[in-house]
Amino acid sequence: MSSSLVVKCPSCKRAVSWTAEQQFKPFCSERCRLIDLGEWVMEEKRIAGESLLSEDDNDDNVFFQ
Ligand SMILES: [Zn+2]
Repeated sequence: MSSSLVVKCPSCKRAVSWTAEQQFKPFCSERCRLIDLGEWVMEEKRIAGESLLSEDDNDDNVFFQ
């Protein structure tokens, strides 16, 4: 009975064995994990910047009432 599960690395789509030794799962390597993390952080920064702008607008409206 085989208990080894294989997943695809989200960055490079390579097959990755889902084992205890595979510390970067679901990624195949630290490099792929960092690539994916970097994209995530960039996306989050962009969203945070947009919400910061709309908060400034609300503050101005309250201030001038
Ligand atoms: Zn990979």
